[in-house]
Amino acid sequence: MSKTYRAVEITKPGTFHLVERPVVAPGEGQVRIRVEACGVCHSDAGTVEGQLPGVVYPRVPGHEAIGLIEEVGRGVTTWQVGQRVGVGFFGGEDGTCETCRRGDTAYCQNPIITGVTSDGGYAEMMIAEARALALIPDELKSVDAAPLVCAGITTFNALRNAGRAGDTVAIQGIGGLGHLGVQYAKMMGFRTVAIGFGPDEEHLAPKLGAHVYIDAKAEDAGAALQKLGGADVILATAPSGAAIASLLPGLSVRGKLVVVGVSGDPIPVNGVPLIFGGRSVIGSLTGRAIETQDTLDFSVLTDVRPMIETLPLEKAEEAYRRMMSGDARFRVVLTMA
Ligand SMILES: [Zn+2]
Ligand SMILES: [Zn+2]
Repeated sequence: MSKTYRAVEITKPGTFHLVERPVVAPGEGQVRIRVEACGVCHSDAGTVEGQLPGVVYPRVPGHEAIGLIEEVGRGVTTWQVGQRVGVGFFGGEDGTCETCRRGDTAYCQNPIITGVTSDGGYAEMMIAEARALALIPDELKSVDAAPLVCAGITTFNALRNAGRAGDTVAIQGIGGLGHLGVQYAKMMGFRTVAIGFGPDEEHLAPKLGAHVYIDAKAEDAGAALQKLGGADVILATAPSGAAIASLLPGLSVRGKLVVVGVSGDPIPVNGVPLIFGGRSVIGSLTGRAIETQDTLDFSVLTDVRPMIETLPLEKAEEAYRRMMSGDARFRVVLTMA
């Protein structure tokens, strides 16, 4: 076995470096993974651009990593060498903060964040906490599983926690998150509305399973949703606070606007429709490892797959820029030879 591996380090904000690193043994409670594929996610900007406080460089980004366990550390009893696993954004709870002590570990106040506080999957190898692993079903290719451990669980969990079968559920944006959200919403038994910005010339929305398509450029999406009787749930994936807020009038009584796309600008909210109708605006952040596994299993069961483009590891910078440009259809995945 080679004593070194290739990794893409961010050495300072905006600077990518392909480096050789020595292979290290996993510590207690950890595993070493031979990475096969790693998705490129918008949140990688936190590390690449230094947008998140406390990023220490050099850092290997990437929190959509899939690969084979190559070595297990001391105390790891439930995972074995050779199993194919995934690691998402949430790299492990501390188990001691008040949120963890109340059992809500997905919102740990001091979590390990893959590719931010620990090195991630833009590499041929990575060390991960055993408690953060999800088992990859045999039916899923590693390149397809990669986006599901972040973009997938983000939309899957938000939708299943917010709606019930038969609800009218609108997905704002058919992009990296939205194209998965539309598929999950359909498969969960929702009346599924896709909201795009422009005409759906390729009929992508119905192909993904949407029952209705709304072009938010051509008409007022909130009013269009009201014409459908109002949305019980709106999943907001657009990275624009103003665009998210424009959908609020489309909520039904007690409807929920669930924000999963991080916007740079504030979301201006009018209190009146919130109060008169018990409507709410909430956020949702990925989820726990076992919920990632739920996402993967559900994707196999219902044939949900991401639409991806692949690039080799050494083209990580190009992959990142392509994803950030918004031109990727719809997720970019790095592959390790
Ligand atoms: Zn992500
Ligand atoms: Zn905690």
